[in-house]
Amino acid sequence: MSTQTIQTYAGGFFDGREHTNGGDPLPVTDPGIGQVFAEVPGGTEADVDAAVRSAARAFPDWSALAVRERGEILGRAARHAEQHLDELVPLLTREQGKTLRDSRIEVTKALDTLMHYVGLSRALRGAHTPNLDPGVEGIVLRRPLGVVAAIVPWNFPTTLLCNKVAPALVAGNTVVAKPAGTTPLTTLRLAELLADGGLPPGVFNVVTGSGSVTGTALVKHPQVRKIAFTGSTPVGERIMALAARGTKRVTLELGGSDPMIICDDADLAAAASAASMGRFYNCGQACLAIKRVYVFEPVADEVIESITSKAKRLKVGRGDVEGSQMGPMHSAGQRRELSGQVERTLALGGTLTTGGGPPDDPELADGFFYSPTVIVDPPHDSPMATEEVFGPALPIWRVEDLAEAIERANASQFGLGSSVWTRDLHRARQAAEQIEAGYTWINSRTKVYDELPFGGWKSSGYGKEHGEEAFSYYTETKSVVVTSGP
Ligand code: NAD
Repeated sequence: MSTQTIQTYAGGFFDGREHTNGGDPLPVTDPGIGQVFAEVPGGTEADVDAAVRSAARAFPDWSALAVRERGEILGRAARHAEQHLDELVPLLTREQGKTLRDSRIEVTKALDTLMHYVGLSRALRGAHTPNLDPGVEGIVLRRPLGVVAAIVPWNFPTTLLCNKVAPALVAGNTVVAKPAGTTPLTTLRLAELLADGGLPPGVFNVVTGSGSVTGTALVKHPQVRKIAFTGSTPVGERIMALAARGTKRVTLELGGSDPMIICDDADLAAAASAASMGRFYNCGQACLAIKRVYVFEPVADEVIESITSKAKRLKVGRGDVEGSQMGPMHSAGQRRELSGQVERTLALGGTLTTGGGPPDDPELADGFFYSPTVIVDPPHDSPMATEEVFGPALPIWRVEDLAEAIERANASQFGLGSSVWTRDLHRARQAAEQIEAGYTWINSRTKVYDELPFGGWKSSGYGKEHGEEAFSYYTETKSVVVTSGP
């Protein structure tokens, strides 16, 4: 085991420059080798206050710009950041663990989201209703909220950030972002690059630190008008309760346990590939990962065999090593949690067809690796069915028909994504209409589009990101009644 040089970072970026936080240093670990390589002091209440004040100072000028001009400034800044893709990609891999390929896809998508809202800046408008009464018309104005807090988890630090920052800034708000304590570095660098690219000081600020200290202080800060949160359901519920004081606006993108239904008339090869990619991508640590498969009995053996053999063939390795198809889990804690869920499930029943623990490769012994795992027909009340499983373990159940599959799919507290695989349009429509989730893919998987609203039902969240609809979560409307004439 080699020893790493530990680099120290400031932890804050506000007023257009670095700010050194006053809290205790938090370690940043390379998940592929299990070693700390950086330390970042956490933001104290005073640091959070300084970050929010920076955003509040920038708000009047930023919100007064023509919306087109805000879009142009953000567009220039995003294009500048894009020139540094080759620096952002390995940094993300190092702090998060994902493969270089996945990091490139993620950062490219994040910057693309910024550009998507730059384009939509031309579409931000209110409404006009003529003739409410004779000589009376109505105008609906749309106004930004003020300072927005963007709180983001560690699994997709840049895309989940830009989903919030892009509509918030274009709509005229200013932002204080808090990345997860274990993935602060790409966010800090991105803030620097956007500032170098021309984003005015204070418009986009970052304060790093723990959820309990920095996150709580941000949510409670009286000048924060809205909290845009992505993370786990229990933390989202806590934030919603805290935000009640001050009647703050909240959007919550929370946990998921996405069902996939494979009918007997489906393209089985395509469905099996999708199940494998959809579950093991990002080492299974995606809110929208396929987390439960329900397959029709007549084709179940073929599908189970196919998914299992794909899982066995996946090349597990460090994110920064060429050829790795699945990196490590993000932390020792995440791996412990997954191990516990797999063990508790197998103790209740089900058949393990592959995986079930860390790989035996001695080269991977120091990282937080876990082998791709498939469990067939575990009990429907086992952790694999009832909890969010945030790692590379896939349960597969045999079902009789579509009605049973939909019933099982909906027997979950979550309602984020879902998919159905069939060549029968009637079945596809039935599933799309009856599955309780914010997204249903028919014969495809897990790809979200900036053009379509995205957000969970039930315990998977509240409010939408993506699409023009996102603007409504970063603005207030005001109705103005104009009476003309005598
Ligand atoms: P988490 O809820 O523990 O943390 C998310 C963020 O919230 C982090 O920045 C954390 O520091 C902060 N935080 C924690 N406690 C806080 C508090 N009391 N006040 C304010 N901030 C606080 O989630 P995680 O484990 O980092 O991420 C994984 C979870 O995120 C999974 O449940 C996953 O499904 C979910 N997720 C959802 C989506 C979606 O779009 N629906 C996308 C990605 C991840």
